Amino acid sequence: MTTSKKNFGVLNAGLCADCVHARYIESDRGSSFVQCQLSFTNSDFAKYPRLPVLVCKGYQQETGNSAGN
Ligand code: SF4
Repeated sequence: MTTSKKNFGVLNAGLCADCVHARYIESDRGSSFVQCQLSFTNSDFAKYPRLPVLVCKGYQQETGNSAGN
């Protein structure tokens, strides 16, 4: 189940918290994690990075004006 990135507040996601490539995922068992969308096109990135991500060459800060995301 994919939910809004607003829920990142419950995770210590580090850079992923405001990265345009991150998607917040919540499993049926209630576990929360981040899916890195870059992993689909670049094998250098883990699909589910170990959090918190402190350094990442793919990090791109979200501008914050994407209301529907
Ligand atoms: S590019 Fe890096 S910071 Fe962005 S979602 Fe992927 S792992 Fe997280």
